[in-house]
Amino acid sequence: MYPDLKLFIDGKWRRSNADIPVINPATEEEIGRLSCASKNDLDDALEAAVKGFEIWSNTSPRKRSDIILRAATLMRENRDEIAQSITLEHGKPIKQSKLEVIRGAEFFEWDAGEAMRTYGRVIPAAPGHKYSVHHQPIGVVAAFSPWNFPMSQPARKIAGALASGCSIILKAAEETPAGAIHIAKAFEDAGLPYGVLNLVFGRPSEISNYLIPKEPIRLVAFTGSTSVGRELSTLASQNMTRSLMELGGHAPVIICEDTDVIKSAILSANRKMRNSGQVCTSPTRFFVHERIFDDYAEAFVKHVTSIVIGNGMDSSVEMGPTANSRRIAALRGLVEDARDNGAIVATGGNRIDMKGYFFEPTVLLNVPKNSRIMSEEPFGPIAVINPMKSLDDAISQANSVPYGLAGYAFTNRADYIDQLIDRVEVGNLSINTLEASMPETPFGGVKSSGHGREGGLEGLQNYMSIKNVWHSAKIS
Ligand code: NAD
Repeated sequence: MYPDLKLFIDGKWRRSNADIPVINPATEEEIGRLSCASKNDLDDALEAAVKGFEIWSNTSPRKRSDIILRAATLMRENRDEIAQSITLEHGKPIKQSKLEVIRGAEFFEWDAGEAMRTYGRVIPAAPGHKYSVHHQPIGVVAAFSPWNFPMSQPARKIAGALASGCSIILKAAEETPAGAIHIAKAFEDAGLPYGVLNLVFGRPSEISNYLIPKEPIRLVAFTGSTSVGRELSTLASQNMTRSLMELGGHAPVIICEDTDVIKSAILSANRKMRNSGQVCTSPTRFFVHERIFDDYAEAFVKHVTSIVIGNGMDSSVEMGPTANSRRIAALRGLVEDARDNGAIVATGGNRIDMKGYFFEPTVLLNVPKNSRIMSEEPFGPIAVINPMKSLDDAISQANSVPYGLAGYAFTNRADYIDQLIDRVEVGNLSINTLEASMPETPFGGVKSSGHGREGGLEGLQNYMSIKNVWHSAKIS
């Protein structure tokens, strides 16, 4: 079921001389060998993307939309096959992989609709004069997607670029290449003109350093860590190339005293462990009113210890492994540091003694502010639960990190909700739910969590430039 891992350049699949192994994180076994692009391959991708842009930007929005929708339908039809590939390479439970395929298709469907609504405007002018504003596709996009959602992360970037009329060279994650390969296959079958979508893999820094400074690249779109985002933005800025950065988060969850304690604790515990915590919007720092702290923490711990862990191909499994051994080392370091600073490890904290990169669902209580985990994104199955005295206290702790991607709260008090909306520094705030975004809502961060938005009405704006036209009826 796992696909052949080739490059897709100028509408053709190609193998390269160099390849790297792809490992199943649940078994540590090799499941495929991934072709890595040489400089010649990248030059070919650039040339193809320039040609692809010429064709695609001159294709009507309706036709672009039709092709995108056709590809999305094929992805839905192949949901089970794609989901199996995702679980094999990423480890997440098969049920979650299936949902991810559908979510990927939804990103395409939303942006396909938006392709026909990239309206400009007419500005009132003197008689004989017309001012109009036009949104035009920006050009060739260099995009970089990460491994935590092998299908929906590439989908966001490809959907935005293609719906806007841009061509794209995507470097998807080497650890989880199959999702992007399935997307490229769907577009090949849907009749996308050659060169509009090009897919490459290789050593990430070599590819970004080579592609980003190239003249045809007009936008760099990246999802990943803040440190890499900073490097790529710096590189892009040398040519004044625009960038769209969806970077790390360290989401606070504020649990107020008026909420349903047990319901919110169980929802929080489930959501924290989704995708083994490897989600940029993962709820991580739980600030719980001191009056309900003990009950909340007890219910949270009780629930995470009941989560079924194992190989995601087994349909009874609720949490798979982390994606690679780097995560295990990083998570252990954060737990040890918190413990040394006086935090209580209520459950977990260790690698699970079995084959695969499994880490125990971990709950840390009363974590001191100076612990690394209070400012570093764990990107794994670790929750921090700390007491708060008041909403003011919780909001100031929530805002105390350089990140501002997602934030959550549980309360029904109108005065609290008013304060939360005004004062929590995030791009996405959710109240009484831990869902952070939908295809139709704009997603992105503030502060060091990046800039630009994906989805919503705002998503395609990143991929377009604005042209103002002044037409005078007579030479004047
Ligand atoms: P990492 O920062 O090395 O890599 C993250 C992603 O960026 C990977 O897909 C990688 O291929 C890519 N990347 C790395 N260096 C690059 C470069 N120079 N040019 C282009 N792409 C590059 O870290 P990691 O160990 O793979 O992942 C852990 C950290 O990454 C986490 O702590 C988390 O903050 C971040 N991350 C964030 C997201 C997200 O959705 N925002 C997704 C995955 C990882």
